[in-house]
Amino acid sequence: MIEKVAVVGLGLIGGSIAKALRKYTDIDVIGVDVDTKTLDKALREGTISEAFREINFALEVDVLFICTPVGKIADNVKNIYPHLKKGCIITDVGSTKKVVMEEIEKFLPLDFYFIGGHPMAGTEKAGYDYSHPDLFVDSFYFLVPSDSVEEGILEIFVKEIIKKIGAKPVIVDYNEHDRIVGVISHVPHIISTTLSNFAHRECKDALKYAAGGFKDTTRIALSQTEMWKDIIFSNKEVLLELLKSYKDLIEDFIQHLEEEDEDFLVDFLNRAREYRKNIEV
Ligand code: NAP
Repeated sequence: MIEKVAVVGLGLIGGSIAKALRKYTDIDVIGVDVDTKTLDKALREGTISEAFREINFALEVDVLFICTPVGKIADNVKNIYPHLKKGCIITDVGSTKKVVMEEIEKFLPLDFYFIGGHPMAGTEKAGYDYSHPDLFVDSFYFLVPSDSVEEGILEIFVKEIIKKIGAKPVIVDYNEHDRIVGVISHVPHIISTTLSNFAHRECKDALKYAAGGFKDTTRIALSQTEMWKDIIFSNKEVLLELLKSYKDLIEDFIQHLEEEDEDFLVDFLNRAREYRKNIEV
């Protein structure tokens, strides 16, 4: 039974995990963050029961959530796991899994259970102030258990945490995960940032007239650079392959447009609308 959890990194996602655990479970949550103001606020609001800037003492928790940027996750695990009790579940919320999990598997002893996690919820905003206890309700939540994680351990984690905070667990391996999020999250992010740069380069005066369409397609370009730099680098191989495939699609489109191929254009637009309609709102 999971009774006590530590959340490292009380930002948008870590703050939301802590708030969701407070709202939907009886689990005691302690918070760890580099920012004292964030810790003070989380304590004042009752989101966490104890606050620490770092872990350099024996930490009696059943689950450790690492909610820091992707580039820091492996180091956080390396520094903290020696202070945990054996049998502790360690999980993260990072947006890519393969590079981070391969690194962690190199040093983490088999009597700690690492379950990679990635909630498919969030916004372009960062920080504790934007966190929300209902962020994960009805959202998919990818779980990538390491080989050492026994079925029973995964079941407890899913039942007592993931489902309780309202999320829908999806168990995958890290290659599958990184390709799925490459397609639906990372390539769209790169396209959104490309579009923003493209518009500025082609006609920066046009930006002042931007309306719904441009704002919708570039909203995620407002996200944090630090976080996205880590995500893009850690999924580089998948993204290079997907971006080349995307480039082929654009080149194909250009060729048909040059040929004034109306049938192609109509079919292209129709198919895109049908695929988009299939996404549940
Ligand atoms: P965020 O709002 O910037 O939160 C990160 C938090 O971690 C901040 O409070 C930060 O403090 C703190 N932190 C940084 N280094 C730390 C350390 N060494 N020890 C303790 N705390 C530390 O970012 P986020 O959006 O929650 O993203 C966190 C993770 O969630 C990332 O791995 C990201 O890939 C993943 N994720 C994000 C989304 C999304 O939509 N945003 C969705 C799913 C998954 P400072 O601000 O003071 O540095």
